[in-house]
Amino acid sequence: MTPRFAFDNSFARLPGGLPGGFHARLAPTPVAEPRLIRLNRPLAELLGLDPEALASPEGVAILAGNAVPEGAEPLAMAYAGHQFGGFVPQLGDGRAILLGEVVGRDGLRRDIQLKGSGPTPFSRRGDGRAALGPVLREYLVSEAMAALGVPTTRALAAVSTGEAVLRETPLPGAVLARVASSHLRVGSFQFFAARGDVAALRRLTDYAIARHDPGAAGAPRPARALLDGVVARQAALVPQWLLLGFIHGVMNTDNTSISGETIDYGPCAFLDAYEPGKVFSSIDLGGRYAYGNQPRAMHWNLARLAEALLPLLDEEEEAAIASAQEALAGFGPAFEAAYLAGLRRKTGLLSARRDDAETMQALLDLMAAQQADFTLAFRALADTAGADAAGAGEEAFLALFAEREPAAAWLARWRSRLAQEPLSPASRAGAMRAANPAFIPRNHRVEAALGAAIWQRDLGPFETLLGVLSRPFDDQPEHRALMLPPQPEERVERTFCGT
Ligand code: AMP
Ligand code: MG
Repeated sequence: MTPRFAFDNSFARLPGGLPGGFHARLAPTPVAEPRLIRLNRPLAELLGLDPEALASPEGVAILAGNAVPEGAEPLAMAYAGHQFGGFVPQLGDGRAILLGEVVGRDGLRRDIQLKGSGPTPFSRRGDGRAALGPVLREYLVSEAMAALGVPTTRALAAVSTGEAVLRETPLPGAVLARVASSHLRVGSFQFFAARGDVAALRRLTDYAIARHDPGAAGAPRPARALLDGVVARQAALVPQWLLLGFIHGVMNTDNTSISGETIDYGPCAFLDAYEPGKVFSSIDLGGRYAYGNQPRAMHWNLARLAEALLPLLDEEEEAAIASAQEALAGFGPAFEAAYLAGLRRKTGLLSARRDDAETMQALLDLMAAQQADFTLAFRALADTAGADAAGAGEEAFLALFAEREPAAAWLARWRSRLAQEPLSPASRAGAMRAANPAFIPRNHRVEAALGAAIWQRDLGPFETLLGVLSRPFDDQPEHRALMLPPQPEERVERTFCGT
C-alpha cells in the first residue's frame, strides 16, 4: 500500500548546487532491513497522510529512506553555524535529508525530513547515520514537549535499519522522520552572510518571510520585520523551556530555528532538583548552555542572526547596526514579561502586583538552596491551592525541602498574596495544574527506556513513557513512579549527543 504525499516543495525551488547553493540534491541511502518501531498516527493524519499506508512495507521503505515517494525532491540543506562560540562556515545537513513539504489538514506547511538517512556532501567525517538511542530520545522528548504545549519539531516515525552504527561501540542504527514548520535556522542566514552573497541572503529572507512572517513582506524593511519576528518567537520560547526545567544542551546557531520551534534534541534533559547552573551535556564543559544561561545564549544567537542580516537592514552601515541593536533590545523585555507571566501561572496568580517577581524569586531561591524537585514542588503547590481546609495538602510541598520552616514561611507569604484575589480554590488549582505538569521526561526514565529498547529489544518502557507523557498535566496514579525524581543511585548526570 503505497502512501501518497501531496508534496509542494518550495525550498527545492531555490537554487541548489555546491558550493554556495541553498541545498544539494540527493536521495537517502538505503538501509539493510527497515523495521517500523513507532509511527505517530495522529501526526500522520494531521499531515494528510494515511497511517495504514505509512505502516505498510511500502510506507516503511519510505520512512527508512529505501524508497523515494512520488513528488519528493530529496535534498540536504546548506547552513553554517557557531558551535560553542566558534564559527563554522559550512555545516549543512550531514545526516539528514529533506524529502519535501506538505500542507497539513490545518492548512500549515511543514517539512518532512529523514534524520540518519546516510551521508551527504555536508557529512565531513561523519557517517550520516543515527543510532537508535538518540532517535528514540528525540522522538520521546519532542513529543513530550509538544504535549506540554511548547513549540517544537515533531516525530512522525522511528524506523530501525538492521545496520550497526559505530560510535564508541557498535550500536543499532535508526532513522527518525522529523516534521518541522521549517528547518531554517540562524545558521542558514550565516551561510550566505559569510560568503558575502547578499543576493542569496535576500532570497532566503524573502523565503523565510513567506513561510514564517507573511506580514513582514509589506514592511518598509522586510528583513527587520523578519528579525523582529524571530526575536519575538524565541523570546516566547526560551521562557517556556525555563518554566518546565528544560535544558536544550546544544544551543548552537545551527540549532536555533527561525520558526521559534525547539529543534535538535541531542543532549537535552530536564531538571530534577532546581539548580540554575545545571549542565547535563557531556560536551558543554564550560556550562555555556547551562539551564540558567539559556536566555543569554539565545540573545547571543539572535545577535548572530542580526549580524548576518545587516546588509538588508539598511544601506548605511551605521543605520543597519542601529536597527539590529533596536531589534535585539526587544528580546530582554519580551523574555522577562513572558517568564514572569509564566511564573504567575505556575503560582496561581491572576493579577500582577509589584512585588510578585520577588515573591516568586524567593521560592526559586529556596528550591535551589534546598534541592527541591522543580516539577514536584510546583505540582504540589497546585494541589495545596485546591485543598478545602487551610493547610491541607501542604505536607507534600514541605516534604520536598530540606528544611520545613523557610518553605512554610514562603507558603504563608504566598497565601496572603492569594487572598488579594477573588478565585475559588478549585478553579485556581485547576489553572495551576494546567501550568504545572505532573510528568516530564525525567532523564533517568528516558535513559532506562532507551536502554531497554537498545539492549533488551524491549520497547515496553519507551511506549509506556511516551503514553504517559502524551497527557503530562493529568494525574495518572497508576504511573506515579514515573513522576518521581531519581533515587541517588538512579541519577543520570551526563547526556550525550550521540553523533
Ligand atoms: P548537531 O550537533 O546534531 O546539530 O550537528 C551539527 C553538524 O554535524 C550538522 O551539520 C550535522 O549534520 C553534522 N553531523 C552530526 N552527526 C553527524 C553524523 N553522524 N554524520 C554526518 N554529519 C553529522
Ligand atoms: Mg543540528
